Amino acid sequence: MKTQAATILEAGQDWTLTEIDLAPPQAGEVLVEFTHAGLCFSDEHLRHGGLGELPAVGGHEGAGIVREVGPGVKGLEVGDHVAASFIPTCGQCDWCVSGHSNLCTESVNSPGQADRSKYRFSIDGETISANCGLGTFARYSVVSANTIIKVDPTVPLSAVAVASCGVLTGWGAAVHAAEVATGDVVLVLGAGGVGVNAVQGAALAGAREVILVDTNPAKLESTEQFGATKTFTSMDEAGEYVRIINPVVDGADVVIVCTGNTVEPIVTAAYGALGKRGRLILAGMSQDAMAKNVQLPGTQIVFKEQTVRGTIYGSCNPRRDVPLILDLYKRGLIKLDELVTQQYSLEDINQGFEDLRTGKNLRGVLSHAGANN
Ligand SMILES: [Zn+2]
Ligand SMILES: [Zn+2]
Repeated sequence: MKTQAATILEAGQDWTLTEIDLAPPQAGEVLVEFTHAGLCFSDEHLRHGGLGELPAVGGHEGAGIVREVGPGVKGLEVGDHVAASFIPTCGQCDWCVSGHSNLCTESVNSPGQADRSKYRFSIDGETISANCGLGTFARYSVVSANTIIKVDPTVPLSAVAVASCGVLTGWGAAVHAAEVATGDVVLVLGAGGVGVNAVQGAALAGAREVILVDTNPAKLESTEQFGATKTFTSMDEAGEYVRIINPVVDGADVVIVCTGNTVEPIVTAAYGALGKRGRLILAGMSQDAMAKNVQLPGTQIVFKEQTVRGTIYGSCNPRRDVPLILDLYKRGLIKLDELVTQQYSLEDINQGFEDLRTGKNLRGVLSHAGANN
């Protein structure tokens, strides 16, 4: 079959909208009609050539409906509503069976995964890869059954689409990686799609104060609804504030870095606000994946018994945590609809990414059926 898809053919180019070929599902695969796809910085990194293989169909966040099931797939039927998971969970490897399926060996971040035979997209017989094996910027995609999660069909698919990446990454950074406890003072850097969800996670976990910092004041507006108790545009002021309200710890109990391009001065400033026994959590990536963006005084970390920890996908187990997030949403404990500040049709994808770069949206979402669906 043919499908419309937004592709990156060469690093640095804009997104190109084309009709491409899509082969039917093989064993263990399903055909999904993606109805919505989130616009996220990881696809901007793909566009720059810093992440993933090109040429590629973009999109690693999304939600849709199963349209065809390949041989051997268990637990999925035609018509099921599903969330995309940008890390597959095979359920078999050491990481999956030990409760760390965010590190599943099937992940594209694992070595030896540059196997192009797994992709079903092509143009003139040439294989096109799919970001994270998903390619949610195509209306139809054939994906491994391990990389989608069946969800409650009563939850709107636009809400499911954002739950699958930014929400889990931010919420899990606070809940799983930082293990925010009742009474903690938590500082979050970056008020984007990941940062506000770190705020939601910290607030729900019982933080006494959740302070949100972003250099763009527009992004801090109306973040109270997600649980931010105070906002700052300067890290110096935020650091001063946490030392005043948490004098014994002399800083924040938890600092979570959720910036879209995490460069060295950001990490250094984040560390500057961290108190005794504080946990510094790195959830945001840098544009250059090998950049040495952590330069910290190790002896101070010794004296203060601090922890510096990275987290991918919020250290979540997506098969458990995506349904959990959607349940919390139905109970009114997590906000998802409020995260989607703009919907775009596939034709407007370059505008969507321009708005992402300028920080106009909390989360932009592509609606494959048109901008208001
Ligand atoms: Zn994402
Ligand atoms: Zn696994």
